[in-house]
Amino acid sequence: AAPLLELRDVRRRYSVSSGLFAPRRTLTAVAGVSLRLGAGEALGLVGESGCGKSTLARLVLGLEAPSEGEVLVAGRPIAALHRLERSRLVQPVFQDPYSSLNPRRSIAEIVTQPLAVHGIGTPAERRDKVEEMLGLVGLAPRHAGALPAQLSGGQRQRVAIARALVLRPALVVCDEPTSALDVSVQAQILNLLLDLRDRLNLSYLFISHNLAVVQMLAARVAVMYLGRVVEEGAGRQVLTEPTHPYTRALLASVLTPDPMQGLPAMRLGTAFPDPLDIPPGCAFNPRCSFAFDRCRAEAPALVQREGGTLAACHLSAEVRVAAL
Ligand code: SF4
Ligand code: MG
Repeated sequence: AAPLLELRDVRRRYSVSSGLFAPRRTLTAVAGVSLRLGAGEALGLVGESGCGKSTLARLVLGLEAPSEGEVLVAGRPIAALHRLERSRLVQPVFQDPYSSLNPRRSIAEIVTQPLAVHGIGTPAERRDKVEEMLGLVGLAPRHAGALPAQLSGGQRQRVAIARALVLRPALVVCDEPTSALDVSVQAQILNLLLDLRDRLNLSYLFISHNLAVVQMLAARVAVMYLGRVVEEGAGRQVLTEPTHPYTRALLASVLTPDPMQGLPAMRLGTAFPDPLDIPPGCAFNPRCSFAFDRCRAEAPALVQREGGTLAACHLSAEVRVAAL
């Protein structure tokens, strides 16, 4: 059977201009990404802000079309799916529960909006659905008549999750779903997402800049840098034995104490490169302390390493050990 989600060498470019008379330039947000995700699986997509992960989310949701390559959902190009089919297969949960909910609609209206949009059920049936959906995400029925402003950030994100699940989609694309929330509330929302995954056999494409958060939700992790996947593998392995210098640097920058036990921590510094001016060769080479001549001339392919992880780096395992 076809995987639930498949990306085949997906590219997304934008033509941008810094002013009316400035020349147009091409920004490559996604530079050839191939991924597969099966039913009931969770894939974490991690990278710094600007790496293309939110663009990838929008491509998977069908909100944007790829410039090249294919996004297939249940074996069919997402653009070929009827709106209702698409809504039943893929739903989003976005970062900001403050701006993603219409402030003038009641919680009941927001949660059942996907049903109303597609003309599913009578108004009475939709009302009955509200209580069920609120219960599913741990909200009391009394919240049905409230407006978003009357709820806390965590409660609003629960509402956004209820709305995403009302059509019982197979795949939920979560783009930084907890980044706007207080740390204590983040854990509650992550636990809710875990619980829902198990109860409803959901698949997640879970996007975050935080590897630790991603690993909690996703057994498999893909690390993105400047529009490309540079490392992909079992979350545990990527987190404890990162192969790619970028993953290692990312881990060193988000986790304390340094989990790399003895490996030299590489700091990313602040200089995230200009996505309009991606360096030739390996895009990471200006920030990589292991870079050598070949890195500046040739882009490394994503190839399988010992242990099953995929990595895009010219350093072979042997060379890397010698370099350390
Ligand atoms: Fe660093 Fe070269 Fe590997 Fe790129 S290919 S991550 S520059 S060693
Ligand atoms: Mg983003």
